[in-house]
Amino acid sequence: MTTNHELFQRAQQLMPGGVNSPVRAFKSVGGEPFFTARADGPYLWDVEGKRYIDYVGSWGPMIVGHNHPHVREAVERAVKNGLSYGTPCPAEVTMAETITRLIPSIDMVRMVNSGTEATMSAIRVARGATGRNLIVKFEGCYHGHGDSFLVKAGSGALTFGVPTSPGVPKANADLTLTLTYNDLDAATRLFDEHGHDIAGLIIEPVAGNMNCIPPKDGYLQGLRELCTRHGALLIFDEVMTGFRVALGGAQAYYGVTPDLTTFGKIIGGGMPVGAYGGRRDLMQQVAPSGPIYQAGTLSGNPVAMAAGLAMLELIQAPGFYDQLAARTRLLTDGLQAVADGEGVAFSTNRVGGMFGLFFTREKVDSYAQAIAADTAMFNRFFHGMLERGVYLAPSAFEAGFVSSAHSEQDIADTLEAARGALRAARAG
Ligand code: PMP
Repeated sequence: MTTNHELFQRAQQLMPGGVNSPVRAFKSVGGEPFFTARADGPYLWDVEGKRYIDYVGSWGPMIVGHNHPHVREAVERAVKNGLSYGTPCPAEVTMAETITRLIPSIDMVRMVNSGTEATMSAIRVARGATGRNLIVKFEGCYHGHGDSFLVKAGSGALTFGVPTSPGVPKANADLTLTLTYNDLDAATRLFDEHGHDIAGLIIEPVAGNMNCIPPKDGYLQGLRELCTRHGALLIFDEVMTGFRVALGGAQAYYGVTPDLTTFGKIIGGGMPVGAYGGRRDLMQQVAPSGPIYQAGTLSGNPVAMAAGLAMLELIQAPGFYDQLAARTRLLTDGLQAVADGEGVAFSTNRVGGMFGLFFTREKVDSYAQAIAADTAMFNRFFHGMLERGVYLAPSAFEAGFVSSAHSEQDIADTLEAARGALRAARAG
């Protein structure tokens, strides 16, 4: 039998850190990653046959659980007709119709292949449409690995202590202004000073890459008003929150309308997909109807579209999001009760099917609080959970995800594991 360890030894000789995306390497939590052999429902199985209840869900997209038969069968049907055409295909039109119907702020959409491409393209549109150069982002927010975004970034960039990456030219980084998330006064001051040069402000409407931090009441609305007043575009990066916190994404959940929206992973049902879209007058400036160039050989891929459409059908079932939110609440309330019972300083955040766990007594609503929480305790807890067959994101700075496949029994099993893991973590 191939072991996780053997695979990791080989992988490290061949790929940077042994992985194709940094956080997977377990570097911040220590130890070695497991290698997944298969996934079904809420579970992953590693190559050694160990089962994990999975709260990462491929970093979000597996909202109906892994290997859902409806999605898998749609892919199987699509594959029979070929893998890529490089011409328009009918599923793209259905996908665009579905997205524009579910997200009223989107009149037109362009499919791409990842969240990174979606955000890079969205800020190009913001710059092209406004004729301005500055982009505003938030410390601890992650928008993929485009040059403009690796400035005080979240996710792996934050986990590994290189939030501003070498390789990003200073001239490029200088065009990205950063703000503190959930601080409207700071945003007002920045816009008062630079508003006339700001092309767009990009934000994760619920921050999910510095752990999970929801916006304060009125915060997103305040940013909307600032952008409107200063002629800058408001871009919601809903790569994580889209079709996750509500069917209409965070913009529906909080009732705030962005000019442009980016999506990723989740609309591909697990296939490599992203999209950006928004107001018609903006999107019509994208090539070939307008001069702002953006393209993709595999964009609108028929197999990815089939998977995404099948997934989007499932999440439109009545009550889907109420049930998802209820399951998530069962998990976070349950974990809080277990931690309280064990006398561990702990708090949680939760929006729809997305959650965050913090080793601190405070309710966390800022980046500063998120990084001040006890990460050593998190790392011990992470490993305790892993040993007990529960897979959380391998970093204290990532959100967690519940799927509709997680049963009440899975949650109960998770809480039981948490009791043991917290005891062990507390003991050090
Ligand atoms: N934006 C957000 C909010 C994300 O969470 C991510 C990835 N986790 C991205 C953009 C980048 O997406 P991708 O990894 O598909 O390039």
